[in-house]
Amino acid sequence: MEIFLARTQGFCAGVASAIDIVELALKTYGTPLYVYHDIVHNTSVVNDMKNRGVIFVEDLNDVPEGARIIFSAHGVPPGIINNAKARHLKFVDATCPLVTKVHKEAVKFSNQNMDTVLIGHVGHQELVGTSGYVHPNLLHIIEDEKDVDQLHIDAQKTVAYITQTTLSVDETKGIIEKLKQKFPKLMAPPRSDICYATQNRQDAVKELAKICDVIIICGSPHSSNSNRLRETGQQQGVSSHIVDTAKELNISILKDKTKIGLSSGASVPRYLVDAIIKKIKTHYPETIVHEFENPEKNIVFPVLQFKE
Ligand code: SF4
Repeated sequence: MEIFLARTQGFCAGVASAIDIVELALKTYGTPLYVYHDIVHNTSVVNDMKNRGVIFVEDLNDVPEGARIIFSAHGVPPGIINNAKARHLKFVDATCPLVTKVHKEAVKFSNQNMDTVLIGHVGHQELVGTSGYVHPNLLHIIEDEKDVDQLHIDAQKTVAYITQTTLSVDETKGIIEKLKQKFPKLMAPPRSDICYATQNRQDAVKELAKICDVIIICGSPHSSNSNRLRETGQQQGVSSHIVDTAKELNISILKDKTKIGLSSGASVPRYLVDAIIKKIKTHYPETIVHEFENPEKNIVFPVLQFKE
């Protein structure tokens, strides 16, 4: 048995920075410390913080006036920031800078009075946040190609689009193509909204699919980018499975396989991947692990602190 680790996987710069912000706040101020929404979409990371006293909330009204709170990497709508200010919360916005970039595009398009199509997964925290930056009368949310048919906007108008950062690169291309056909004056963001980490992790899974006969993605069920990695493997014709932790890995999926591709979502700590390798080695002691140099190792985002 051989395990091939995806070249790019695990923590992206946005996730690493958001987690560092919580760690720094815990070290500097201790508890009580609040986080709005899961800081990143990984069950193990969030549970570990909960065990150390961090309180996760989905409603700012659950946070006492004047308390310390961190907004998650996925971003929040402006209303949440205004509410936090009004309630004198001491807050740090851990929104990934690449999500903030999408927010700025949304504001720019709305300021130009442009209908804006937001491509993403309804209910995902990032989409909720980004939606808040588009003027409500100009906002059109779509999830897939068939939703393009349901858009009732004058086709002669200049229509803009923006996307969630963690979508499938290939599927999004198809949606944008269809939008272009329907709206000839379609305006794109200056650079793709799908972030480098999403693109690199999907590319790395495609690489694995060329040499492996099964692919395992470590990631939580509510992690958008992890789910897209599983889909990417599957779309390349390789049986692909997502597991939150080693405990969930059903070892029978490896029966008759000899080359395992192993990757992880952008919010997955390395120790969870190591635990999967360990479990596989327990069943197949002769397993050889191949690991490659990670080209992202020098990408780092700043760690912001509370302003007192
Ligand atoms: S997946 Fe991309 S947008 Fe999301 S936190 Fe990571 S770098 Fe930022």
